[in-house]
Amino acid sequence: MNKAVEVVIIGGSYAGMSAAMALGRSLREVLVIDNGQPCNRQTPHSHNFLTRDGATPAFIASVAKEQVLEYPTVQWLDETVSKVEETADGLLVYTSQGLQVHTKKLLLATGVKDELLPIPGFAECWGISVLHCPYCHGYEVRKEALAVLSNGEMAMDFVQLIRQWSTRIQLLTNGNPMLTQQELTQLEKACIPVRSSPVQSILHTDGHLYQVQLEDGTLIPLKALFARVPFHQSPLVQQLGLSLNEQGYITVNPFQQTSLAHVFAAGDCTTAMRSVSTAVAQGTMAGAAINKFLIE
Ligand SMILES: Cc1cc2nc3c(=O)[nH]c(=O)nc-3n(C[C@H](O)[C@H](O)[C@H](O)COP(=O)(O)OP(=O)(O)OC[C@H]3O[C@@H](n4cnc5c(N)ncnc54)[C@H](O)[C@@H]3O)c2cc1C
Repeated sequence: MNKAVEVVIIGGSYAGMSAAMALGRSLREVLVIDNGQPCNRQTPHSHNFLTRDGATPAFIASVAKEQVLEYPTVQWLDETVSKVEETADGLLVYTSQGLQVHTKKLLLATGVKDELLPIPGFAECWGISVLHCPYCHGYEVRKEALAVLSNGEMAMDFVQLIRQWSTRIQLLTNGNPMLTQQELTQLEKACIPVRSSPVQSILHTDGHLYQVQLEDGTLIPLKALFARVPFHQSPLVQQLGLSLNEQGYITVNPFQQTSLAHVFAAGDCTTAMRSVSTAVAQGTMAGAAINKFLIE
């Protein structure tokens, strides 16, 4: 089956829906294609987004979807995009169910896929008590016993950041500490213990951790563990040959335009500042920019 629209948006979460709203309000024919896997789906409460502080991610998304689909030129498809290719006058988008959609402009709002660490309990606690972002979840565990799972260059910055929320903090390096003597002394002076034994498991009840067990047998009672994990981009990014920055995010200009003129990107796939509000703001910018480029 074939179809043609002015704009295809791949990813119907916060960035994609925000762009769809801007484009729907600009009377543009838009198709949002989404396979329902936003990165925050396991977290029980989303914080730090005005008017929706503490709401579930699914609630925020459902209100957004209802409002976006009020605009008659916005269509929605629950599917996976499997391939995208450039044509002489735009792009062809293929879905896994065999739909081919021709579009003049494409927005990638595909987020990123977090590669959760293979520590027993890590995946179950992700977004509940194993936390990546203190701005999203730090306030709820303020002044509690916390640990940062990190090593090397990032570790000092991460510990110093988390210390804003609690001084009851320790650093788990999960192996030999890759820190300078000066950094180790700095941590000692700040009364931040450094544990180098690898983390064996995270003990939890329904995702709420209560202890971290190290390979040397130490049991550390904790309320939360802060950890940053590697991620990968959607395979579509590589298919299109888009430029990435040093950190692995899609390079975009201030209009959210990528290294390919017809392709825009917004949200987590473009920035380390991962938050609902950033994704929404970038989606708005992408929607407005796409409309302007279509006019031109
Ligand atoms: C555990 C966790 C907790 C968080 N908590 C908070 C919080 O409390 N407050 C806050 O502000 N931020 C929080 N964040 C960050 C926030 O969730 C992200 O910044 C935000 O979801 C980014 O939105 P996005 O639209 O860019 O990507 P996502 O929300 O990840 O959505 C990407 C969408 O693209 C779809 N998709 C991808 N590839 C395809 C494809 N090929 N075909 C079809 N669909 C596709 C996915 O299914 C998904 O729906 C949290 C993140 C995590 C991981």
